[in-house]
Amino acid sequence: MTNENCIFCKIAKGEIPAKIEYQDEDIIAFHDITPQAPLHLLVIPKTHIASANEINSENSRFLSKIFETIPKLTKSFGVNEKGYRVVNNCGDHGGQTVHHIHFHVLGGRHLAWPPG
Ligand code: 5GP
Ligand code: ZN
Repeated sequence: MTNENCIFCKIAKGEIPAKIEYQDEDIIAFHDITPQAPLHLLVIPKTHIASANEINSENSRFLSKIFETIPKLTKSFGVNEKGYRVVNNCGDHGGQTVHHIHFHVLGGRHLAWPPG
């Protein structure tokens, strides 16, 4: 399922260019256009899921696949040992600006906590 006005659906379909690091039939990982760390990937399901609020038993396998893929990606970028952060922003208070669920993968520097 895709949403024709959704920028991440367009990236998933190849209609908008992105620096893609990995994709298969279900998910795609690409570099954030405004990186906040030396490594800043976005990992998304190709299916349009608006936010974490929409995760259910029908689509949760895509989330499993995303979390199986993240350690492979971070290993390939050499950030596994020092560590990295996976972030999902949900809704207005969560700071979500693109309404297609995505997981930020941030690494390559020490990240501050707590978030602002
Ligand atoms: P959010 O604020 O929704 O959690 O994160 C959305 C992220 O998508 C932001 O970090 C933003 O830089 C990134 N982004 C927005 N538009 C594009 C785009 O067209 N291409 C890529 N690669 N990243 C985008
Ligand atoms: Zn979408």
